[in-house]
Amino acid sequence: MSGNVFVVSAPSGAGKTSLVRALLEADPQVKLSVSYTTRPPRPGEVDGVHYHFVSVERFLEMLNRGDFLESAQVYGNYYGTSQRWIEEQLAAGTDILLEIDWQGAQQIRRLMPQAVSIFILPPSLEALRARLNGRGQDPEEVIERRLAAAREDMSHVGEFDYVIINDDFATASLDLQAVVRAKRLRVEAQLVRHAALLKDLLG
Ligand code: 5GP
Repeated sequence: MSGNVFVVSAPSGAGKTSLVRALLEADPQVKLSVSYTTRPPRPGEVDGVHYHFVSVERFLEMLNRGDFLESAQVYGNYYGTSQRWIEEQLAAGTDILLEIDWQGAQQIRRLMPQAVSIFILPPSLEALRARLNGRGQDPEEVIERRLAAAREDMSHVGEFDYVIINDDFATASLDLQAVVRAKRLRVEAQLVRHAALLKDLLG
């Protein structure tokens, strides 16, 4: 049986990465897709773990070769999802999670209508503003620019299947796990998974 595809998107400052990390810890059946990017690594980011960090030249080469299932330009950098990795995981029946932006989510929806997409929202404008403020030392206009970008991202919320408000982290984390579990319980999957049981029960 093919694995499930989960797409998680959010504006920056919504706490998406922490929620995804908690899901992966709570549910070892879900594997995270490691994207390719031309963005330089941030302190603490490890090549092959957080991203595959590549040059623009190499990215475009891969793009032209058709190596990416989806790709997008976000804040001036290229990002892409490895087609081969996804195909291998799904063929092995593994559930995969793509942490990508709304442009990537649109492409996945078109290619894989069975994919489940989830959008994470901050609990309030003040909370978002505080989270976008970094260490609290950024100039007002920088924060306003980040806020405008977040608003643009959030304007796509209606395209997603599920919306999770990240107010209380533990609750939001359970919400994300619930979406994953519910997808696994869909009748089309359960009838295949429990074919023998159904044969017994129905005679
Ligand atoms: P960051 O550079 O902060 O890690 O990510 C910036 C944005 O790019 C985030 O919204 C993130 O989800 C998105 N992103 C990361 N990888 C991919 C990808 O492979 N495809 C797309 N479309 N977006 C991605």
